[in-house]
Amino acid sequence: QGLKISNQKQKEAEDKIREIAYHDNLTGLPNRNHFLVRVKQIFTESLPRPEYAALFFVDVDKFKGVNDTYGHAVGDGLLIEFGRRIVEIAGDKENVCRYGGDEFIVFLTGMDKEDTEAICQALVDQMRKPFNISGNTFNLSASIGVAMYPYDADSVDMMLKKADSALYVSKESGRDQYNM
Ligand code: GH3
Ligand code: MG
Repeated sequence: QGLKISNQKQKEAEDKIREIAYHDNLTGLPNRNHFLVRVKQIFTESLPRPEYAALFFVDVDKFKGVNDTYGHAVGDGLLIEFGRRIVEIAGDKENVCRYGGDEFIVFLTGMDKEDTEAICQALVDQMRKPFNISGNTFNLSASIGVAMYPYDADSVDMMLKKADSALYVSKESGRDQYNM
């Protein structure tokens, strides 16, 4: 009986360690390292490879100003909410990652061009809806950059590069939009 309890306790401790090691502690989303390892496994281990996939970079527009004006705690509350809204569109939190700061990544397989565009539009629309945090209403937006497999890239690293360049185009073209 004693051994059974300690096995149970050990399993709980291991689960806890895994949760901490693999997730961002603010949003609870997969962290960058864990996410990249997992997404790369999809390409190295799943035989056959997915026919289509899309990687979306989502970066909140002018977020620094919110922090500067309302403080870090409000900023943190918003980041948690951004994560929730992105997960709603991505379908599963394991498809989403907090890449760093106000930047998130979504990775989805089985996305042809039409599906990918629909997701981009949904992400832009979702981030335009007002956020209510600690009695304040925020009207924000996000810029998105996308890369599609196999059209734009044949590896996860290449998808990251292409999506990052596309995000840069969205920022430079006035924000609140997506580019492929
Ligand atoms: P841009 O439209 O160019 O993206 O402008 P931006 O102000 O959003 O600039 P950028 O994405 O480079 O800055 C992200 C800001 O996010 C910087 C910092 O103030 C804020 N930030 C990053 N991490 C955290 C965090 O964990 N908590 C809070 N509250 N703010 C964070
Ligand atoms: Mg930003």
